[in-house]
Amino acid sequence: MAATARRLRILLLDEGHAWQDLHDSLIGLGIIIQRVAHVSSLDRLLDTAQADALLISTERPLSPGVEASQRIARQARLTRAALAANRRGMPMVVLVESAEEVLTHEALAAGAQDIFERASTVALLHARLMLLIESARMRAALLRRPWGRDALTGLLDRQGFVDAAVSLACADENVLSQPLVLLLVNIDRFSRINDALGAQAGDDALRDMAHRLKHTFRQMPQTALARVAGDEFAVLLTGLRRAESAQALARHLQADLHRPMVCGGLECLIRVRIGIAADLPGATVDAASIGALLARAARASTDAKVIGVESVFQEVQTSSAAHRDRLDLEAGLVGAIERGELVLHYQPIVDPLTRTVSRLEALARWQRPDAMVYPGEFIPIAEETGMVFDIGEWAVTRALQQVRDWRAAGIRVPGVSVNIHPLHLERAALAETVQQALRSSGLEAGVLQLEVTETGVMRDVERAIVGLQQLRELGVRCALDDFGTGQSSLAWLSRLPIDTLKIDRSFVTDLDGSLPHQAVVRSIMVLARSLGLHAVAEGVETIAQRDSLHALGCNAMQGYLYAKPMPAGELAQWWERFESAVPSNPPPALHESGPSQAGRRTRGDFIPERR
Ligand code: C2E
Ligand code: CA
Ligand code: CA
Repeated sequence: MAATARRLRILLLDEGHAWQDLHDSLIGLGIIIQRVAHVSSLDRLLDTAQADALLISTERPLSPGVEASQRIARQARLTRAALAANRRGMPMVVLVESAEEVLTHEALAAGAQDIFERASTVALLHARLMLLIESARMRAALLRRPWGRDALTGLLDRQGFVDAAVSLACADENVLSQPLVLLLVNIDRFSRINDALGAQAGDDALRDMAHRLKHTFRQMPQTALARVAGDEFAVLLTGLRRAESAQALARHLQADLHRPMVCGGLECLIRVRIGIAADLPGATVDAASIGALLARAARASTDAKVIGVESVFQEVQTSSAAHRDRLDLEAGLVGAIERGELVLHYQPIVDPLTRTVSRLEALARWQRPDAMVYPGEFIPIAEETGMVFDIGEWAVTRALQQVRDWRAAGIRVPGVSVNIHPLHLERAALAETVQQALRSSGLEAGVLQLEVTETGVMRDVERAIVGLQQLRELGVRCALDDFGTGQSSLAWLSRLPIDTLKIDRSFVTDLDGSLPHQAVVRSIMVLARSLGLHAVAEGVETIAQRDSLHALGCNAMQGYLYAKPMPAGELAQWWERFESAVPSNPPPALHESGPSQAGRRTRGDFIPERR
C-alpha cells in the first residue's frame, strides 16, 4: 500500500531516447523503469506492467512549414497516452525541454497531471511523482470504500452520497458530458409530525419517503439517493440530457410525495419543497463541488431561485428555520466590521525544538451579541455577498496594527499571516490596502504574509501569479494554504511567486502510523526544499504527529498541541509559558504525563478556545 513499501515502477515512453540521462538517474534512485516502444503498445503494457506512473517525452522541436501538422500529431499522441493512463487512474508527467507556454498548455489540456523540464532536478521529479502516485492511490481507495448508509432508510448517508456522487460523475466520459443535477427534498415542518405523533411516526414517514424516492427513480441507474440530514433527501441525476428536464422530474416526485401516507397508524399529509441545482458538463467534480451543489440546492428550495422551476416552489409558505438562520446571518454580517463585531484571533506557528515563534496566523471570528460565529459559517456567506474582500482588507489592516501594538508593548512578534480569498488577488484594491496598512503601521513589509488556498490559486493560476507577483514586489510574503491535495502541477508550482507551503491538516492528522501520509509529507518536504520554500505543518495535535514531522524534517508547526487561536490579549501570557517550557528532543509538551503514544491526543500548552 504505502509508496515506501515497494519500489516505484515507471513506464517511460521516449521513442527517440532523448531522455536517456533521466532514465539512468531514476534507475540510480532505485526506481524500476520499463520503456514503451510506441504509444500504440501503451494500452497493453499498462494492463500488464503494474506501473505507478507514466513519463512521456515530447518530440523534437517542430520544423517550420510542417509545424501545424506536427503539432496536431504531438497533441494526438499525448491525448492518447493520457486517456490510457487516466482510465487506469495512473498519473502521467510530460517531459519537456523547457516549459514554453504552448507545450505546457498542450500537455495539461491533453490530460497530463504535470510537466517536467529538463533543467529541473531528478529529486524534484521523484518527489512530485510520489505525491501524484499517493494522491491517485488515495482517490482509488476512496472509490473502493463502501459507501456510508443511513440505518433508518437504507439510502446513502451524507458522506456516502458525496462519495457516490464523485464516483458516478467520474465513472466515464459519457457522464462527464452531461449536466450533474441535484434535487434536494426538504419536508416542511417535519418536527410537527414528530411532536404531534411521536418519533415512531416520524420514522415511518421517513421510511415511506425513501421508498417513494426509490420507486420514482427505479429506472434511472445513474442516480444516487440519500438522506443527507434528518428531514432532507438528495437525488443526484447524471443521465439527464438537459438540466431543464429536472423540473418535470421534480414535479412528478413532489406529487408522489404529497400522496397521503400512514405514520404511526394515522393517515397524514406531508408537504415538501424541492430545490434544484445543476453543474454544467465539464465542471470539476469533487467532494467540495458536491458539497457546494447541495448548498445551492438548499438555497434554491428556500429562495425559489432555481433554473426556471419556480412553480415547484409556489407552495412554499413559510421559510424553514435554517433559512431564517441564514437570512439572519446574512443580514447581521452587513455592517459587522463597522460595528466592531469582527475580531482576529491569533495562532502561533512554532519551532518546538528551539521553542521560538516564527509567525502568528490571524483567524477571523465574528463576535455576535449572543454567540461567537466561526469562519466556517460566515466566510461562505461573505463570499457570496462579496464581503469577503472587505473582510480580507480589514484583516490585513487590523493584523498589522496589532503587531505594531504588540511590539510597542515589548512583545517581539516576528510576523503575521492573514488569509485572503484567492479572487482577491485579482483586485487592485488589495495591493493598495496592503501598502496603506504597511505605511500606517510603520512595519517592514516582510512582517506580513498572505495565505491563499492551493485549490483557489489553481482555479486561475495565471491571474493568481500576476496578483501574487504584485504583492511580492511590495515585499510581502505569500503562502499556499491547504497544500498537498495534488492538484497543482509542478510546472505552475515552480512559477508561483510564493514563500511557504502550508501542509494540509488532513495529512498531519493521519500521520500517526500512516505510511502513505508519511510518504506524502516527505514528498512535500522534498518539493519545498527543491523549490526553496518553507513548509509549515498545520493541525498538529499530538506528540506522535510532532515527532513524525520532526523525523520528516519539518519543524514549523501550528496546531492545538501548542496553542489554539487566541485573542490578542492572551498572547503574552501564552508566550511566556511556551518559552519557559523545557526544550528537549523530542520535546515534551507542557502538562504531558507519562510516555507519548502514537495516536494519543495530548493536551499541549494551549489556552483553550471555547467553541
Ligand atoms: P485555515 O486557514 O486552514 O486555518 C486553520 C484552521 O484550522 C483554523 O480554523 C484553526 O482554528 C484550525 N486549527 C488550527 N490548529 C488546529 C488543530 O490542531 N486541530 C484542528 N482540528 N484544527 C486546527 P478556523 O479559525 O475555524 O478557520 C477556518 C478557515 O476559515 C481557515 O482555514 C481559513 O481558510 C478561513 N478563514 C479564517 N479567517 C479568515 C479571514 O480573515 N479571511 C478569509 N478569507 N478566510 C478566513
Ligand atoms: Ca490559513
Ligand atoms: Ca490551512
